[in-house]
Amino acid sequence: MSATPTLLFLEGALRMKETRNLPVTVPTTLQELEELVARYPNLPAEAIVKQDLLRLGMAFDAASLGGASFKEKDYFIFTFDHVPLGEQDEQIRFRIPEEIRLRGGHFELAPTVVSVRVNPGSPYRVKATERGPAVFLGDVELGEVEFPPVPAFYAHRTSAGKSPGEIAPVIEWGYLIYLTVFRNCQYFGKEEECAFCDINHNYRQQKAQGRPYTGVKSLEEILEVLAWIDQEDTTAQVYTITGGSVVKDLRGKKETDFYFDYARGIEEKFPGRWMGKIVTQAWEPDELVRFRDAGIRIYHPNYEVWDERLFDLLCPGKARFVGRETWMRRIVQAAEIFGPSCVIPNFVGGVELSKPYGFSTIDEAIRSTREGLDFFMSHGVVPRFTTWCPEPFTTLTTIAPQEHPPLEYFCELLSVWKATFEKYSLPVPPGYGEPGPGRAVFSVSAFMDVVGYEGRASQRD
Ligand code: SF4
Repeated sequence: MSATPTLLFLEGALRMKETRNLPVTVPTTLQELEELVARYPNLPAEAIVKQDLLRLGMAFDAASLGGASFKEKDYFIFTFDHVPLGEQDEQIRFRIPEEIRLRGGHFELAPTVVSVRVNPGSPYRVKATERGPAVFLGDVELGEVEFPPVPAFYAHRTSAGKSPGEIAPVIEWGYLIYLTVFRNCQYFGKEEECAFCDINHNYRQQKAQGRPYTGVKSLEEILEVLAWIDQEDTTAQVYTITGGSVVKDLRGKKETDFYFDYARGIEEKFPGRWMGKIVTQAWEPDELVRFRDAGIRIYHPNYEVWDERLFDLLCPGKARFVGRETWMRRIVQAAEIFGPSCVIPNFVGGVELSKPYGFSTIDEAIRSTREGLDFFMSHGVVPRFTTWCPEPFTTLTTIAPQEHPPLEYFCELLSVWKATFEKYSLPVPPGYGEPGPGRAVFSVSAFMDVVGYEGRASQRD
């Protein structure tokens, strides 16, 4: 089914009434953070704090936003917020930064880049201090905070009057140009949409707030912005082409043709200027060959969740239209085309614990996910993960009361990801910048923060 504006409106109106299953935020205490940092000497403290900031989101005092200008959150594909846009305080709505970079504080953190997820109920609050903004947990400062600079090319306007951040926003502290060329998904409604995904609900909320939010971006307007980035920017190194699934056709093109035109158009105009990635469904090898030949280097056919039963329940569209077995086969075959380390399928960390279908214990969740990591990494493929954010209006938050996965789960997940990665002696995933604490810019999970970390002496040794 194609998500027409009328359908989006009707479904949105229904779901607006069904959003009260959002998790109650159970605050982390400083003691819990200290205990986990002591219990996991294999993980940098930066990674543990980062995962908790992603897990529980952040609250902002309006005064903390009042200093120098900074790059605001562009809502590049999902909301990644814990509360609806319409319910956010007007003083902060659309005024918060894309990311923060915190350093110092109680754990003497190296600079740590974290994506911002708005949660007024979060125990983590960004406040104004005499030295500038800082993140606090209760009365304890966890670090001074920088907000990302506004890229110079954001000063332009396209010939249609659009902001560059609307067409080709950058994230990861400017490292990644994020091209969501189709801002809806034709997997539509509870029977098809991935149960954790708010791409269609984000689109609807942006429109309801009166934001310009282009549903299908034209190649021409993307090239217009990329020309400014090419001339004026030295920070961006990578671009991602992505968007929702196309079930039948879009603008008269089947899914692979629709996305291919962007890859070809960008690489013809700017051959090899940035490293090209695509984040799409899992496609057959003959389709992938032409993307590689056009210049795409990295392929992300996201499998979302490893467990077979959960894949079918949480990804009903992918299960019905492609099927899990086919999806996994295509991931492995893609490694022959792009090279194993250039196939980086994502999974949604923590969604294995969601209600009502998920595992009931951390051990079960980790056992399942470890099996998937071992399967892929034994083939040289390196899955990465993002951090599940129970956004309003998603299927999961409308069908059952949710809880945030415990921070201990994310410590276990990082540990098993790191151990499996090291067991197979895999290379640093390309297209993510420098790894390790103090250097990683990937902002929606801490997987790059743990790469190469040699650990510290356990406080219990
Ligand atoms: S395929 Fe699933 S995760 Fe991807 S955009 Fe569609 S609903 Fe979201």
